[in-house]
Amino acid sequence: MSDPYDLIVIGAGPGGYVAAIRAAQLGMKAAVVEREERLGGTCLRVGCIPSKALLETTDLFEKSRHDFSERGIIASDVSVDLPKMMAHKDGVVAQLDGGIQSLLKKHRIDRHFGHGRLLGDGKVEVAGPSGTTQFDGKHILIATGSVAASFPGMEPDGDRIGTSTEALSWPDVPDHLVVIGAGVIGLELGTVWRRLGAQVSVLEYLPRILPGTDSQIAHEAQKILQKQGLEFHLGTKVQNVSADGTNCRVEIESDAPIECDRVLIAVGRRPCTERLGLNHAGIETDQRGFIRVNSAYRTTAPGVFAIGDVIGGAMLAHKAEEEGIACVEKIATGHGHVNYGNIPGVIYTAPEIASVGETEDDLTERGHGYRVGRFSFAANGRARASGHMEGFVKVIADAENDRVLGVHIIGAHAGELIAEAAVAMEFGASSEDIARCCHAHPTLAETVREAALAVDKRAIHS
Ligand code: NAD
Repeated sequence: MSDPYDLIVIGAGPGGYVAAIRAAQLGMKAAVVEREERLGGTCLRVGCIPSKALLETTDLFEKSRHDFSERGIIASDVSVDLPKMMAHKDGVVAQLDGGIQSLLKKHRIDRHFGHGRLLGDGKVEVAGPSGTTQFDGKHILIATGSVAASFPGMEPDGDRIGTSTEALSWPDVPDHLVVIGAGVIGLELGTVWRRLGAQVSVLEYLPRILPGTDSQIAHEAQKILQKQGLEFHLGTKVQNVSADGTNCRVEIESDAPIECDRVLIAVGRRPCTERLGLNHAGIETDQRGFIRVNSAYRTTAPGVFAIGDVIGGAMLAHKAEEEGIACVEKIATGHGHVNYGNIPGVIYTAPEIASVGETEDDLTERGHGYRVGRFSFAANGRARASGHMEGFVKVIADAENDRVLGVHIIGAHAGELIAEAAVAMEFGASSEDIARCCHAHPTLAETVREAALAVDKRAIHS
């Protein structure tokens, strides 16, 4: 048997492969175990990246049909070649997969292809196409992520009823798509298929969309998305979904069933821990199946760590990356930290929705005093010039000391704009600090500065 690895990472998603690279940078001999041929996990294969490829492409299509003529561009007979659109998306995924393979090679990280299982005592079994092998690791990191959740009576059928994975590759545009769940996936993929011509009905159990998002922002998002053509049925509990040929039937509590030709189940995700050997290795999970860890990402088994979706919290690629880096740094140096109060979230609808820090709802519930500044994109020159007038920025600052507690944006490029807020908050900025930073003109970023000025009721352009 060869020398033990310093670190074996199970799962090469954004949490796992980033942790392996950081470990290599810190001088550790690392390996990743991944059962899919492609690296990058859900995020790269069937999540963030392919969905963004489709969102960007369908946005171009939508603009060519609705915005071009207003601005003097004549583009008649614009139509969609769906197989080519899908091939472009698959090409993006393949390129990025190649990029990760190169990064692993560069850092001399071994890649073992197969399903990883813990055997206890620092041993990992890898069952792959060429048989079963065992490896020893001084440290083992579980980064196996999550899979789409479903409920009894509401399961994917491999054809008409799918999860986000299938909805990223449907071969034709549905006439009527029912999306179950008005969360991030439901709204992003609902937007893709609506732009391609489907009637999209979104059924949501709660009385609002995007639970957890600042409620004022969610309300604005609903208004805008409705105007674009998404239909929302809130307070609607789905009980059963079935398909017969190309017809699907969605049964809901206390209302008539809905007929459609495709269903997207987007009701959340659950930890991916099947056949990992958790019990055998003495690793405890909570009631929802997430692996229990302490503040150093140690599980209940000595030498075994876990990060990312599989430990719960925000199911975001960048949160997993941060945890992977912090975990490995703690192992190697004794130090490592994730600031959970400052993890941005982005929803890639049009306009985008982005937030970091606390919402007004959180603060009101906690009885914490705050002041709010708001600024509309409609009052920003760059937004007008580029035709991106919808939405606003909201800066929330502590009533006592003006420290920024949260920033919430619905508007064009919100996902890029939020980075300024996250950096400012990491440095403990006040709204006055942001307001006093010179922002280039004309840029959308001026909306953030104006919202910060608005906290003290001195926005210039409103
Ligand atoms: P979600 O938790 O964001 O939303 C699921 C929604 O389904 C909720 O609003 C819930 O109330 C509703 N729901 C649950 N059961 C229902 C029922 N029986 N009938 C009707 N509605 C029901 O989950 P998601 O959209 O599936 O996303 C999964 C995870 O992946 C989330 O944590 C999300 O943050 C993450 N994700 C993030 C991004 C991004 O950052 N852009 C993109 C995709 C996914």
